[in-house]
Amino acid sequence: MRLAPSPTGYFHVGTARTALFNWILARQDPEGVFILRVEDTDPERNREEWVQAIYAAMAWLGLDYTGPFRQSENAPAHAAALEALRAAGDLYYCDCTPAEVEARRGEGATPGYDGFCRDRGLERSATTALRFRTPDEGTLNVPDLVRGEVAFALSSIDDFVVARRSGEALYALANVVDDRDDRITHVVRGEEHLANAPKQMLLWSALNAATGIEVPLPVFAHLPLLVNEQRKKLSKRRDPVALELYRDQGYLVAAVLNYLALLGWSPRGDEEIVAMDEIVRQFRLEDVAHSPAFFDVRKLTALNGDYIRRLSPEAFAEACRPWVDPGDVAWRPTGYRPAWGLERYDEGLFARVAPLVQERVARLDEVPAMVDFFFIDPAYDEAAFDKVIRHDPEGPAVLSAAVDAYAGLEAFAPAALHAATLALGEARGLSLRKAQAPIRCAVTGRLVGPPLFESLAILGRAETLARLAAALARA
Ligand code: GLU
Repeated sequence: MRLAPSPTGYFHVGTARTALFNWILARQDPEGVFILRVEDTDPERNREEWVQAIYAAMAWLGLDYTGPFRQSENAPAHAAALEALRAAGDLYYCDCTPAEVEARRGEGATPGYDGFCRDRGLERSATTALRFRTPDEGTLNVPDLVRGEVAFALSSIDDFVVARRSGEALYALANVVDDRDDRITHVVRGEEHLANAPKQMLLWSALNAATGIEVPLPVFAHLPLLVNEQRKKLSKRRDPVALELYRDQGYLVAAVLNYLALLGWSPRGDEEIVAMDEIVRQFRLEDVAHSPAFFDVRKLTALNGDYIRRLSPEAFAEACRPWVDPGDVAWRPTGYRPAWGLERYDEGLFARVAPLVQERVARLDEVPAMVDFFFIDPAYDEAAFDKVIRHDPEGPAVLSAAVDAYAGLEAFAPAALHAATLALGEARGLSLRKAQAPIRCAVTGRLVGPPLFESLAILGRAETLARLAAALARA
């Protein structure tokens, strides 16, 4: 098995699913090997940073592999393969420009190359590319473990280019040479590659004959397309397809892997949260659907929330560190730093606060805005402040009453704070919710957040009273 990404952009969630399915299959087979091969043979479209992004994504996913290998390292083998095919008469030189091919093509003609140079006997020159001679008649059946046999009419497969004018092998050839060299038995990849499969089988067989090295042809499995809400193919521009984005937003890798496994496949039973060991036990390519799979960010987010709630409090606090700990952390979301410095941060305090937010977030990047007021003065949401304090006469009255009541409490604890707030609200004809709003806004800066009385208790009496007074002063 292999993952063979081209480093042409962000690591796509579809590539992540392909990686996962290959990795699972390799784990199921005692002799299974999963390799990572970066197909970096297109200098115009490849960038080293995208190569590094592939490694980083695979490391984050925790999918172990043999390698990484780089296609460019195998250039001598690609050249040798071209030579063997040429010597066997499978290739011919062609000097047609795309415009010439286009001009010859009649209305309604099959797309692709018309074979113009097939028998012209051109020699190698600076203007000739190499084409592979494909059969004109009959059908080729691609064995596909997801789709069954997929029949292709050979008349629809044109003589495709395998080497540029410079003589350099193209991806179409390099991909097959590498798969043969790597002894790939299962080519598992996205559906967009289905049309390449017959070409690759033809090349593979031709290489077997031309080199005398008979490598069994692989079987294929083309995984269903990922689509968005409009049932359109996920687009790099419109849709959030970069895996990195999910890592930065605080999706847990276990949730992401679980969700990826559901894209085109489903476990037995109704439960969608399934441990990876169990997925590895149950997964079969034969059960993968043909129809497009909806990449549903909302569903992924809900699943992530479930995974977050299942963490132990310690594991949750640890998972939050890149977002809350201003000190040295192994990794931090791109472009992010906590809004508080080391002098304000208190790890022990966060450990007490974390259980209050664990139930309330679906992504870890929601955590900073829920806990910031523990580490810095409240960053007031001015619209909220206006609404419940500045422009509501009950606001300052509640705050004053709270200052008096909280100052006199024997124990500054959640139950006592709750009772005192209920009482001061009742005295003014306010529900608990109404009475809480100005207090929450004064102390946390916002109208939403972790449970108020637990938060006040953790913050402590002195700090709570100081913030109530400060809010009264600015009202
Ligand atoms: N390098 C190809 C791509 O990234 C994948 C080829 C394959 O899996 O066969 O689209």
